[in-house]
Amino acid sequence: MSINDAVHWSDDLGGGTRVALVQAGTFRSDAGALLGPVPRLLWNHLVAEEIDHEHRLTQALNCLLVETPAGRVLVETGIGERLSDKNRAMRGYEGTPIEPKLREAGFDPGSVDIVAMSHLHFDHAGGLLLADGARAFPRASIVAQRAEWEIALSDNSRAAASYDQPELRLVRDWGAEAWADGERELLPGVSVIPTGGHSAGHQGVVVRGTGEGARTLAFFGDLCMRPWSANPRWVTGFDDFPLTSVEVKGQLFRRAAAEGWIVALSHEVKRPVGRLLPDRDRFVYQPV
Ligand SMILES: [Zn+2]
Repeated sequence: MSINDAVHWSDDLGGGTRVALVQAGTFRSDAGALLGPVPRLLWNHLVAEEIDHEHRLTQALNCLLVETPAGRVLVETGIGERLSDKNRAMRGYEGTPIEPKLREAGFDPGSVDIVAMSHLHFDHAGGLLLADGARAFPRASIVAQRAEWEIALSDNSRAAASYDQPELRLVRDWGAEAWADGERELLPGVSVIPTGGHSAGHQGVVVRGTGEGARTLAFFGDLCMRPWSANPRWVTGFDDFPLTSVEVKGQLFRRAAAEGWIVALSHEVKRPVGRLLPDRDRFVYQPV
């Protein structure tokens, strides 16, 4: 993997495991929905610079490239290239989708062995296919939780609104070949951990280096999308199971803080990589 300016950030975790963060464009989401149960009085000052006239925030589509001696993993695929112009405008979607973005970074999409997704919402699973419907990562197996596929393709009306079901049906068989039932080590040092909370089958990804000075990086998907997500109680209005989110965030963040894990945020534009530090009964995010 060659690392250059097309990559937002990269680091060596030890033992031949490298991680790079690639931003596959940005889109916009309603600020109130992103901050869920949190009163505006508490968050307004955090977003004053970025909130637009339609009360939306700019959300990056952060993807991770993981290079290990045993293979290559892509985490998340962003929105992709199959949106209608109307949908593109409605979402405020801008920038380069993941497949051409990887090429810009000198990374052949055909060399990806595994694509892991935190969950299957449109802004995480949209990049599996190219504009013409071909697989963007032809050699890769796709790893999301089986529970996520089941809810994503269910006839619950909220699920039908949260997922792009016609698109997911096109990749369902591909997804079924490698879907996970619980925690799984994808390659030595790269594991997915079910979390639930944001969606029924939401999962995090943990990457561990080896050898002297080895470090660990965690990607908690949309349980930790922006710096303010470091407070376990600050969950989004999109979380289907907010009580689970609060509980699981508390557990995972405690471990991340205690063991000094590097944390990559799913939707932060400017400072997407940092660490979690304990702060009374919550945590604070400190960018690296
Ligand atoms: Zn998202």
